[in-house]
Amino acid sequence: MPDYKLSTVPRNGERAVFDNGTLSVPNHPIIPFVEGDGTGPDIWRASVRVFDAAVEKAYGGERKVEWMEVFAGEKAFKQFKDWLPQETVDAMAEFRVSIKGPLTTPVGGGIRSLNVTLRQVLDLYACIRPVRYFEGVGAPVKEPEKVDVVIFRENTEDVYAGIEWKAGSAEATKLRNYIKTEFGKDIRENSAIGIKPMSEFGSKRLIEMAIRHAVEKCKESVTLVHKGNIMKFTEGAFRDWGYEVAKEKFAGSTVTEADLSKGGKDSHADAVVIRDRIADSMFQQMLLRPSEYSVIATPNLNGDYLSDAAAAQVGGLGIAPGGNVGDGVAVFEATHGTAPKYANLDKINPGSVILSGVMMFDYMGWPEAAKLIVKGVENAIKAKRVTYDLARQMPGSTEVSTSAFGDAVIAGMANQ
Ligand code: NAP
Repeated sequence: MPDYKLSTVPRNGERAVFDNGTLSVPNHPIIPFVEGDGTGPDIWRASVRVFDAAVEKAYGGERKVEWMEVFAGEKAFKQFKDWLPQETVDAMAEFRVSIKGPLTTPVGGGIRSLNVTLRQVLDLYACIRPVRYFEGVGAPVKEPEKVDVVIFRENTEDVYAGIEWKAGSAEATKLRNYIKTEFGKDIRENSAIGIKPMSEFGSKRLIEMAIRHAVEKCKESVTLVHKGNIMKFTEGAFRDWGYEVAKEKFAGSTVTEADLSKGGKDSHADAVVIRDRIADSMFQQMLLRPSEYSVIATPNLNGDYLSDAAAAQVGGLGIAPGGNVGDGVAVFEATHGTAPKYANLDKINPGSVILSGVMMFDYMGWPEAAKLIVKGVENAIKAKRVTYDLARQMPGSTEVSTSAFGDAVIAGMANQ
C-alpha cells in the first residue's frame, strides 16, 4: 500500500480487488472521494448523507462505505501547493472505485484540466453518461420521457489528447513545413495545429464496453456515432472498428442493421442491433426520435457535445451523472462544473453527484442501494421539493436548499 501522508486511510475499511476481469467489493470498502471546488462541498455534504442512508437501508448495517477524503483542485493547492497530488491518483488506482465533485480548471499558466489528467493517468477510457427523464422536471421538448440512453464516450484520444501547438510557434511552423515537404499538403500560414489521434485499440475497447453493456442489460441497439463521411481515417475508422469488434467478440448476440434489413428480426429476436449514424444527424435523431436509441458509442469530442445536449433535453445538467471507467478502476463524477457563484450558499442541485453515486453502486455490485437512491430522487421530484434550477422550470414546486433536497431524497427512499 502506498504511504499516504495527506489523507487518512480508514482503519475499518478494506480494498476492492480486481482479478481476472472481475471486481470484488468487500462489505466495508474504502472509497476515496474529492469533495470538489466551488459548490463541491455543499453538494458533497448532501450527497454523502444520501449514500450512507441508502446503504444502511438496503443492507441494514451489513455493508458500509468507509469514505477516505483525497485532495485535488483548489483545496489541494491551498493546503499542499499541488493541484493534483500523486497520492490522490494512487488512492484512486489502489481502491479502484472513487467519486468526485467538480474541480476548477485553472485558466492559463500551463495547467491542464485536472479531470482530463485524471482520465489519462488512470486510463479511464470510457466516459459513461446515462441520460433519462425524471417525471415532473420541466424540459424544453414535448416528450422528454422518450429519452433513455447511455452514452459511452471515448475518453483518452481524439482532439482531446492535448497534442496541439499555438499559431506561430516554432513547433507549429516546423510541423507545417514538414507536412508540406513530406506530404504535399498546404496548411495556411500562422495556423494553430492540433492532432487527432484515434487508434484501433482505443476505439475497440470503448465500443466493446458499450456493446457488453447493451448485451448484459438487454438493450435494443448500440449506435456508433461518428463523422466518418468527412474524417474518413479517424472517425470513419471508428465506425469500421465498431462493426469489427461486434463481429469478433459478440457474433452470437449482435446483428448489424444492414443484415437485419435483409432478413427480418425473427431470427435475431434477442440480438443487439449494431448500427451507425453520422454525428450531425444524430443530434436531430436525439430530438426527433429519441426512443430509438438506447446505447451510443462515440469518439471523445462528439460524445462531449452529445451528452450535454441530451442532458439539456431532459431538464438540465444539475441532474446529469457521469462515470469515468477503465479496466477495474472507475471515478464517478458530476458532469457540471463548480458553479462558483453559488458556492457556500446551500443552493445548488446535488442531483448530479447523487446520481453518479447510483452508477457507482451499480458498478460495485450494490444494485439495491442504487435503486433506492433512484426511487428517492424520483419521489423528491414528484413531491416538487427541488433546488432552484429545477424549481424555475416546475410551476407549483417548492424551492429547497441543497441539504433539504438531500433530505427529500432520503425521505423519498422510504416511500416505495
Ligand atoms: P458550471 O460550473 O457547470 O456552471 C454553469 C452554470 O450551469 C451555472 O451557473 C448554473 O446555471 C448551471 N449549473 C451547474 N451546475 C449546477 C448544479 N449542480 N445545479 C444547478 N445548476 C447548475 O460551468 P462553468 O461556470 O463554465 O465552469 C466553472 C468551473 O468549473 C471552471 O473552472 C471549469 O473549468 C470547471 N468545470 C469542471 C468540470 C468538472 O470538474 N467535471 C466540468 C466543467 C467545468 P445558472 O447560472 O443558470 O443557475
